[in-house]
Amino acid sequence: MGPYTTLFGLLALLAGLAVGKAWERYKLQDGRWIDRRRARESPHYMLGLNFLVANQIDPAIEELSTAAEAAGHPLEIHLILGNLYREKGQVGRAIQEHQSLLQRPHLRKLEHANVLLCLGLDYKRGGFVDRALEAFSEVLRLDPDNRYAMSNLEKLYEEQHQWTDAYAMRQKLASEEADQKARHQEILAFLENEIGVAAVKRNEHVEAARRFRAAIDLDQKNAPAYLNLGDVMLAQGDLPGAVETWEKLIAISPDRAYLAYSRLEQAYADLNDPARFPALCRRLISANAQEWRARLALAHYLTSHGSAAEGLELLFEALAINPHALAIHQGIWETLTELRLPPALVTRYVGLARESIFYVDPHICVRCRYRSTELLWQCPHCHEWNTFVEERIAPAKDTEATLTS
Ligand SMILES: [Zn+2]
Repeated sequence: MGPYTTLFGLLALLAGLAVGKAWERYKLQDGRWIDRRRARESPHYMLGLNFLVANQIDPAIEELSTAAEAAGHPLEIHLILGNLYREKGQVGRAIQEHQSLLQRPHLRKLEHANVLLCLGLDYKRGGFVDRALEAFSEVLRLDPDNRYAMSNLEKLYEEQHQWTDAYAMRQKLASEEADQKARHQEILAFLENEIGVAAVKRNEHVEAARRFRAAIDLDQKNAPAYLNLGDVMLAQGDLPGAVETWEKLIAISPDRAYLAYSRLEQAYADLNDPARFPALCRRLISANAQEWRARLALAHYLTSHGSAAEGLELLFEALAINPHALAIHQGIWETLTELRLPPALVTRYVGLARESIFYVDPHICVRCRYRSTELLWQCPHCHEWNTFVEERIAPAKDTEATLTS
């Protein structure tokens, strides 16, 4: 967050300078003519910028305040000063600084929008959600193409779980950035899925199913929409439809297949065809030698169907692929216990596990490196969508060699 806000401050400053080019050089202020270019010729201004770039906020504030004083308090420097106070955590001071700019007479439309944008960020930082929403909305009225305002509004709506508003804002953003269509579709699909989840909570199953289908239409790799659509179909009594939906997820997104395992295992049993589950696992394992989750699921199935020894071999293979997953270690101990702890197998396990570092099911956000013990669809730290990948601390090497050794 920190570097981002400072960077934003810098961008706002540069935007201010660009706008400044269009202004007249001289401006009447407090009854005297001010040479607006003097600010940018001041050594304090340059020093302030340098401190800003080096993320040294206090000296930047000091130099920029001096520069502002010398140049008759130009708007863009005060805009930046407000942003720096916010960066320091002095939100009240930031708001005061930016609000006083709004009092200035003859603000141009873009100046007005810039000040409101900064003020919106102050409110957001201070947790004044309603006022932040109001400020960013006003920015869009003044400057309808302002993408900072759009993405800030979207994030605020998401935080408030106002998924329909967030969706509308992302659509607006998407129409501004036609070159990034795929990424926008991907995010719209997650938002559509959330709208569906909200409908499920209201028991509106038909509407929910419609939303989940729309999410899949937007992005056919949107895993939660398949899971949720299957759940809704199941709730509506359509077990074969649910199975078909979950199987489609596996076909389209094999790396997310495991999310449907427990649902499918139960569903196949309910269809009086439990053997479809181990068959599915074996198919996935033969399609991808690295598939440790299918091995784990198959091992669990085999152990609970009287074939613990075979299950244990699969768990040892899974451990070789991903030695850090606590779930595999737990499965091994359960299975070893089931087999009454044969010393030779315990010794083999101890040997395999010696180098392991334990995590339940480690995932990491590729954008901000936030670590999670499970797969998340939206990062709680940077709020980006679909950025989590499975984290393997030691890269799993060519498994053919590992598995046969
Ligand atoms: Zn993140």
